[in-house]
Amino acid sequence: MNIKWLGAAFLAASLLLTTSCANSSTQESNQNKKENTTNQSEAKSSAVETGNKSLANIKVLATGGTIAGSSDSDTDTTGYKSGSLGIDKVIASVPQIKDIANVTGEQVANVGSENVDNALLLTLAKRVNHLLKDDKVDGIVITHGTDTLEETAYFLHLVVKSEKPVVVVGSMRPASAISADGPLNLYQAVKIASTKEAKGKGVMVTLNDRIASARFITKTNTTTTDSFKSLEQGYIGEIAGELVSFYNEPTRKHTTESEFDISKTKELPQVDILYGYQNDQKYVYDAAVKAGAKGIIVAAVGNGTMSTEAIKGATDAVKKDVVIVRSSRAGNGIVTHEKMDDEHHFVSSDSLNPQKARILLMLALSKTSDPKKIQSYYEQY
Ligand code: ASP
Repeated sequence: MNIKWLGAAFLAASLLLTTSCANSSTQESNQNKKENTTNQSEAKSSAVETGNKSLANIKVLATGGTIAGSSDSDTDTTGYKSGSLGIDKVIASVPQIKDIANVTGEQVANVGSENVDNALLLTLAKRVNHLLKDDKVDGIVITHGTDTLEETAYFLHLVVKSEKPVVVVGSMRPASAISADGPLNLYQAVKIASTKEAKGKGVMVTLNDRIASARFITKTNTTTTDSFKSLEQGYIGEIAGELVSFYNEPTRKHTTESEFDISKTKELPQVDILYGYQNDQKYVYDAAVKAGAKGIIVAAVGNGTMSTEAIKGATDAVKKDVVIVRSSRAGNGIVTHEKMDDEHHFVSSDSLNPQKARILLMLALSKTSDPKKIQSYYEQY
């Protein structure tokens, strides 16, 4: 990491912005610590910077990821450490933000998104709902690792109870890299969250000048800056220079129309994803059931097609009240509801990819384990 850069960024942070950090940048690694974070974050005020009355007040909640990643080498775009910098330093790298919004940072976690778990999802969603009830908060930006960003964004899309804009942002290159994409992505996320037209659009994701609905966005490339795509349904908007333009409305229920409420949820049920492949075996289903899974998403081949062995494993799981959802490993397209679903009491995932199908099933199971009712959720959300 370039020490001079860090020093300048820190100084800029002190001079230009007020940030508050709920905890240090160390990774919270156990459940107790996370629960403490939740309690502290519920208890503390939503303190937001409201300095310039003509600007929107935007809260930036940081969770870590490459956007807060750093390496000793500025040409290292792969071997860096995610979630190294605190939110104060991340915001300070974009001093121009103070011209477009009153921005206050808050550290919810500082992890690579491969370590975002159900407990952190609940902490984050509760914090977002708490903050959005405050009249002084006009919108929220969440900084997040890109690997599982779409899962967190879709979870929030289903459980946030507000029309105010929530924008999830990440970056493909660490903060220490030449041509880091994080600073501009963050600037644009704040810009979107400050835009009146962004209201009522559900949770949005922005990277690489695009605005996407959390329902339809997915990561499609391991390293390139144009990794995030909304393949069949398209983006809902675009940013060009200072102009934020919306062109499409997200379909499917979200936020204020969603019936999922996590305000009292302490734990989400275990839902696992099992891959379909040649020669796959029943025992992986047996193992998931034995370990206590309440739901299984099958990342099946093609249009959710399952092998004879996989069907045996899945039908045995159903007998033990485990809900089976057929999704697809194809990466794109709808898994259609077929006769086999009715025969075996399976559910089909519509156009949700396996990782998002898992998010919906965790929430669905908090209401029912009836496959017909759960099927109706996949048709609505
Ligand atoms: N491993 C990183 C993460 O998801 C990747 C990224 O943020 O781009 O946290």
